[in-house]
Amino acid sequence: MSVLVYVENAEGKFKKSIFEVVSYAKAIAKQMNTGLTAISIGDVASSELENLGKYGAEKVLNVGNDKLKSFVNQAYASVIAEAAKKESANVVVLSNSFSGKGLAPRIGVKLEAAVADGAIELPKTDGGKFIVKKTAFSNKAFAMVEMDSENKVISLTPNSYKVVEEGSAAKVEEFTSENKDSDFKVIIKEIVRATDKVSLPDAELVVSAGRGLKGPENWGMIEELANLLGAATACSKPVSDADWRPHSEHVGQTGIAISPNLYIAIGISGAIQHLAGVSSSKIIVVINKDPEAPFFKVADYGIVGDAFEVVPKMIEAVKALKA
Ligand code: FAD
Repeated sequence: MSVLVYVENAEGKFKKSIFEVVSYAKAIAKQMNTGLTAISIGDVASSELENLGKYGAEKVLNVGNDKLKSFVNQAYASVIAEAAKKESANVVVLSNSFSGKGLAPRIGVKLEAAVADGAIELPKTDGGKFIVKKTAFSNKAFAMVEMDSENKVISLTPNSYKVVEEGSAAKVEEFTSENKDSDFKVIIKEIVRATDKVSLPDAELVVSAGRGLKGPENWGMIEELANLLGAATACSKPVSDADWRPHSEHVGQTGIAISPNLYIAIGISGAIQHLAGVSSSKIIVVINKDPEAPFFKVADYGIVGDAFEVVPKMIEAVKALKA
């Protein structure tokens, strides 16, 4: 009995959300009075892997297989399930990130495990049973998921658990997987970046704008602010419906659900369907000229003002800070 945590990397580096996941998995391992092993797939420097020990991983399995350099759901799920079996891990923890959403149910099937996706708290334990709290109905309700099967897979919503630093360097071991050809129904031949911009689904900072911007010609200042902050850009549904911005930027109930550390909403009213996809952001900053805009009710910081005056001032302020 032990806990295995999958640590996904972004171009060879681990984001803060991964340290949250490792800290969370460590807390579960402590509840179970057992150890924590991490598994990393792809090219990550050994110093980065050892550093996971700081957050509680005692050992890190490093899968350096060339065929697994690019993310393929089926193949990654097979490797993680295989490692769980070899390590006798009956609990697998991962991030409820874009790739985690595809992996959790696949690992669950392979391990015949109960799956709780999008956990927001440590599970309550009752004998071998876990009770996991997660959000439901686009963050409008909570669900308590009872997991009483032997094996369990839990994905953690980013920004819902604090990073805890407690250990020293982890031991790194190479792990050779026995992937079958059937795991590679999808073969990634080449990755072509459409843009150098930060990708939205797992972005830690997001600058988002709505119909208050009046038209696509005004997005220059949104892009400029996002570039200065190293943030991804997003938008409300009517903006992408009108083709002012690509559909891949649409966030909300019918778009992408995101949980960045910082969400800056500019000229967006804050309709419930929009909030459904962004309300689990850690810090929400709202800029709207209408003081009654519903978005202010969920904002951590609000600026009542005209976006066309406020945003250029923010750009100047960020430039001054960086100078
Ligand atoms: P508006 O509602 O038009 O608001 C514009 C805001 O900009 C206003 O608050 C205004 O005060 C402010 N403003 C105007 N000018 C300025 C200025 N110069 N400076 C600063 N502020 C300014 N919406 C989503 O976003 N995502 C979804 O996934 C989604 N799914 C939906 C699903 C269903 C089934 C339905 C029915 C609707 C859905 N919607 C969704 C639409 C949603 O209900 C709202 O209509 C939409 O979010 C409004 O977009 P908006 O805030 O950009 O525009």
